Amino acid sequence: MKLSHLIDGEWIGADDSFASLNPSDTDEIVAHCPKGGATEVDAAVTAARRAFDGWSSASPEVRSDLLDRVAGTLTARAADLGELLAREEGKTRAEATGEVMRAARIFRYFAGEALRRHGRTLESTRPGIDVETWREALGVVGLITPWNFPIAIPAWKAAPALAFGNTVVLKPANLTPAVAHELARIIQECGAPAGIFNMVLGQSEAGAAIVAHPGIDAVSFTGSQAVGNKVAQAAVARGARVQLEMGGKNPLVILADADLERAVSIAIDGGFFQTGQRCTASSRVIVEDAIHDRFVAALAERAKALKVGPALHQTTQIGPASSQSQFEQNLRYIGVATAEGGRLMTGGAQLRLDTPGYFMSPAVIADTAPDMRINNEEVFGPVVSTIRVKDYDEALAVANHGAFGLSAGIVTTSLAHARHFRRNVRAGMVMVNLPTAGVDYHVPFGGTRSSSYGPREQGFAAIEFYTQTKTVYIGD
Ligand code: NAD
Repeated sequence: MKLSHLIDGEWIGADDSFASLNPSDTDEIVAHCPKGGATEVDAAVTAARRAFDGWSSASPEVRSDLLDRVAGTLTARAADLGELLAREEGKTRAEATGEVMRAARIFRYFAGEALRRHGRTLESTRPGIDVETWREALGVVGLITPWNFPIAIPAWKAAPALAFGNTVVLKPANLTPAVAHELARIIQECGAPAGIFNMVLGQSEAGAAIVAHPGIDAVSFTGSQAVGNKVAQAAVARGARVQLEMGGKNPLVILADADLERAVSIAIDGGFFQTGQRCTASSRVIVEDAIHDRFVAALAERAKALKVGPALHQTTQIGPASSQSQFEQNLRYIGVATAEGGRLMTGGAQLRLDTPGYFMSPAVIADTAPDMRINNEEVFGPVVSTIRVKDYDEALAVANHGAFGLSAGIVTTSLAHARHFRRNVRAGMVMVNLPTAGVDYHVPFGGTRSSSYGPREQGFAAIEFYTQTKTVYIGD
């Protein structure tokens, strides 16, 4: 597959390209992707700026209808796009098809949102004056996305951006450009006017050029903390609005009153599904002493039984790491954790299967301490550490340890502890008797502290970022 930039409604190829590989079989090239930079970004921003007046003043029905058609096409193509996503990113077919369906539902949700009228009329304190507030589009928004949800994250940024009348320059992840390319094709084939949705493919230079461009009014970024910090600095320095969704080291607390089987299933789902490559993965499991030994033994046993394999094999439960560097990082962190005193209960080894891929056995590392690196740095792979605590109070303190604050979970039958936890844990999202990962598309998503910056994404919160308020006074 040979990919192109989409700029002002035209597909623009380039000779300077790099390849995206199938992480389940690295002999297979999935796509050749052009390496865009400042020139392509400038052309895309110019086109988006030109298209802005027409799109922002188009009727809500026109905007809604476009999003609705995109939702319909994504739904109709869920199976083939899911297969492409699984080949390029490495998640299983079921996970990948589910992600495409999620993208479809996001477009449909924002097709509805586009129809709402958000203005208000207020009484002035002064006689003879009317006051109104409106929500207006921002202008041109730059969207920079990671590889782990290569269609859902572009969708949850692009759909609200377009619904509220903005025009878009998307820079999808360089590891997974083919899926984003299909999304761009669908948006265009569904009748998007030229210039309202542009996509520049490439690596960090393309992202940095978007953030630096004076014609970009706002930047929505999802990715690592290191890159997010750079994006924030550059965007804030020139006064652009910015929203960041970054990493997590999400605690899952298991209290002694929990049902053992259920607690283990929740930890397996949160820690290992999607190969642990979720910002909301339950990577830090905090276990009360009275259930600790039984829980850790059962967790290791279940982790060992997970079927690791190529993304498209029917029996696969855990696909490969998405890239060589991610794979190496996973193994490196297991070494770091054991060197710090962690006890490797299972996994953590490279698996050699029939195809060359980045396969490893899911790892459980017990007896770790809250301040070890394994409990403070995001691994982003199938690696779960466990921490023993004496009681609920210590569990809460350990959950609140560290710099991140994305998602936090508790497994308990105690209503009192669940209620106390949801109020006192420092995280943007709290899960009771659920994994820390696995979120709905119609409610706000985001974290606290170093996990996130700026307004929440998704659902009814999206309007906060993608519009600005105008207050209008009308005298006689
Ligand atoms: P990354 O930070 O390496 O890259 C993210 C995007 O930024 C890519 O498109 C990349 O090309 C671009 N980029 C790189 N350098 C840039 C620069 N200097 N300026 C502008 N853009 C630049 O992240 P990744 O490896 O693609 O994704 C994994 C990370 O994403 C993990 O840390 C994970 O926790 C995080 N993530 C967070 C959420 C969330 O919502 N909180 C969701 C998914 C993933």
